[in-house]
Amino acid sequence: MSSEFPEYACPYSRLLAEASTKFRLQVYDLEDFVEEADDGYSVDPFGELDHASKCYGLKQRFPDRVLIMTSDKCFMNCRHCTRRGLLGKAQVVKSEAELASCVDYVSSHAEVRDVLLSGGDILTLNDEEVMRFVDAFARLDQIDIVRVCTRALCTNPGRVTDKLAEALARSKKVWVNTQFNCADELTIEAKTAAAKLIDRGVPVSCQSVLLKGVNDTGEEMLALLRALSAARIRPYYVFQCDPVKGIGRFRVDLEKAKEIECYCAERIGGLALPKFVADLPGAKRKTPIELL
Ligand code: SF4
Repeated sequence: MSSEFPEYACPYSRLLAEASTKFRLQVYDLEDFVEEADDGYSVDPFGELDHASKCYGLKQRFPDRVLIMTSDKCFMNCRHCTRRGLLGKAQVVKSEAELASCVDYVSSHAEVRDVLLSGGDILTLNDEEVMRFVDAFARLDQIDIVRVCTRALCTNPGRVTDKLAEALARSKKVWVNTQFNCADELTIEAKTAAAKLIDRGVPVSCQSVLLKGVNDTGEEMLALLRALSAARIRPYYVFQCDPVKGIGRFRVDLEKAKEIECYCAERIGGLALPKFVADLPGAKRKTPIELL
């Protein structure tokens, strides 16, 4: 087990891990797992601890978007997490002064139109704390989109209550971005949580990660995309594993990723077909894998 990023899962995630071997791989290290001590990758490939950090708790890698660190907690510690080496060191925005300085940064950069409320998982905060972040940015005229980035729909769907969904719908600027990686994760509870948001006009989109043993065949990926579409969740991106230290056992070969994309593209319509991309340090956009 990794000492730097301990296994943790809330009761719902532990139950789902008992029911699904594909989900279990994301929750627990394999018994014979040895931490990849020197796999040549960085714990911080995107410079979140230095050049991407613009003020306390605010990261910016692209001109029109900023990311706010709202929490360093999640409902489970996904073994493939990009921020697995950072969450313990994260600058989490807590005080009014810290939030005000993030709002000031956005206000003084008119090109920013999209704010990602991330972490960690923002829905580990209570409703009032979530809405403090949402409202602080949604009230700015320059902001078109406030993204609530949460895996709770998959890892703890009971957290999405009617009351929270109503609050999130109020500004008409919130988009919920979530992560499902295999069809087993689309449980009744997960679909109910998504419906609470979608029925109130909050779009729900899914960013999946291509993971060895979880979704690295055309059939498994297609099953995921169909399950998402049936739940009215828009499949948005499928990411190659980020170049992050310690997740090598999940990496899928680029040629295989292209085969999976092709398999899906030949069997499902464009509405349900996500972009297969890699997030590369220094790139100006998410890079489609067919360009690699
Ligand atoms: S929910 Fe997201 S931030 Fe949290 S451990 Fe999983 S991948 Fe990382």
